Amino acid sequence: MNSDATYSRPPESHERESAGRYSLLRLLREGLGGQRGWSRAWHKAEPRPRYRVVIVGGGGHGLATAYYLAREFGIRDVAVVERGPIGLGNVGRNTTIIRSNYFRPENIRFYDYSLRLWQSLERELNFNAMVSQRGTLNLFHTESQRDLFTRRANQMRLLGVDAEAVGRDSLRELVPLIDLDNGRYPVLGGFLQRRGGTVRHDAVAWGYARAASALGVDIIEHCEVTGIRRDGARVSGVETTRGAIMADTVCLAVAGHSSQLAAMVDLPLPIETHVLQAFVTESVKPVLDVVLTYGAGHFYVSQSDRGGLVYGGATDGYNSYGQRGTLPMAEEVAAAALTVMPSLARLKVVRQWGGVVDMSMDGSPIISRTPIDGLLLNGGWCYGGFKAIPAGGMTTAHLIATGNPHPLAAHLSLDRFASGRTVDERGLGPFPYAH
Ligand SMILES: Cc1cc2nc3c(=O)[nH]c(=O)nc-3n(C[C@H](O)[C@H](O)[C@H](O)COP(=O)(O)OP(=O)(O)OC[C@H]3O[C@@H](n4cnc5c(N)ncnc54)[C@H](O)[C@@H]3O)c2cc1C
Repeated sequence: MNSDATYSRPPESHERESAGRYSLLRLLREGLGGQRGWSRAWHKAEPRPRYRVVIVGGGGHGLATAYYLAREFGIRDVAVVERGPIGLGNVGRNTTIIRSNYFRPENIRFYDYSLRLWQSLERELNFNAMVSQRGTLNLFHTESQRDLFTRRANQMRLLGVDAEAVGRDSLRELVPLIDLDNGRYPVLGGFLQRRGGTVRHDAVAWGYARAASALGVDIIEHCEVTGIRRDGARVSGVETTRGAIMADTVCLAVAGHSSQLAAMVDLPLPIETHVLQAFVTESVKPVLDVVLTYGAGHFYVSQSDRGGLVYGGATDGYNSYGQRGTLPMAEEVAAAALTVMPSLARLKVVRQWGGVVDMSMDGSPIISRTPIDGLLLNGGWCYGGFKAIPAGGMTTAHLIATGNPHPLAAHLSLDRFASGRTVDERGLGPFPYAH
């Protein structure tokens, strides 16, 4: 950090318009008083000319990083700069699944840390994010898949993380609609992680934003970063649609747009951008009490609290920044859905959308310094960065504050690609679309 830099004084948290604590008592009081006592959940900040830290991207990772910087490290001279309203990126477009059923020990530790942070998050943020640990259930369909999943479950258990083998009879009880003996890919069994589940996605952005703002962080919406300023080998700030903002540290947390931002300083990243779709059906009575993933293709489904079945599959397989997706993948995912749960054919799909995901070359994320001093990267989240938001935010904040990687994220550095120490969770090689 630049010790002799002059900063305009960051606001003390008590000077801020505060949303106050949310509680049952307050809900009752506001209900009786005509709902006139509520104030904005987070302060609508105007950009100041200089900050100690500028975080680009008001998604889950950017907001969580800002919150942990302020709470854990006392660094409150922080701005989160978001080109639109917060929460409209992937943090509000994903299928809300959280879990830590990984194979590589370093990934299991990282994602399980995240899962543990989720468990206490609502109380900590004083925000209802609808954390629901209903269990994630992975089906397997061949003997080799059984071996693979058994190996993964054993690895998890060795590290103290829960994983249970589930036989066909128990599967019928857990998922009454399942067709175990379907003609395409009969189901041999499954593995359940009971602590896995879902979290209401956009509430995560709102909850972190509210808590970070209360600690003095500036959340600057409708402010697109259009350039990154350098002073020799060091970053010195960002150009935005609302003027230049100087900073000692700039952290990119822009998910599917990581390569675009890094290109502003001629930094090529081992990332390809792909579109990933999701779908939701009309609402029905409760029919599915776990998050179910199908092993013979790419299909996963859960039931939202509103009753819709939320499902998705693989990326469309070509590079795109379009948040839409195409019909062939929609058909492929629907075919997988009907194989394993044929009765879903009677439901209408009421919404479909896409998000742009930053697929890394080894399928694992990047939390790292870059060759440019003071420029840090949180990205490469592929399909799975939602579940990682608490751990991603905490470990990125640690990197910013201390200058050193957090021990649980040390394997996620950018230079692993140059040195060949990739973290290829699925052993698929350097083919981003395949991870
Ligand atoms: C359809 C779909 C389903 C998914 N399902 C799951 C799931 O079930 N579980 C899971 O763990 N993960 C899932 N993911 C992945 C997960 O959503 C992402 O990995 C994660 O949300 C990315 O981190 P983020 O929240 O910080 O990203 P985002 O919310 O995308 O945040 C990045 C922000 O940067 C902003 N930005 C971009 N460029 C600029 C700029 N120039 N200036 C200023 N701001 C900028 C964007 O507007 C955006 O708000 C899914 C993704 C998709 C698309």
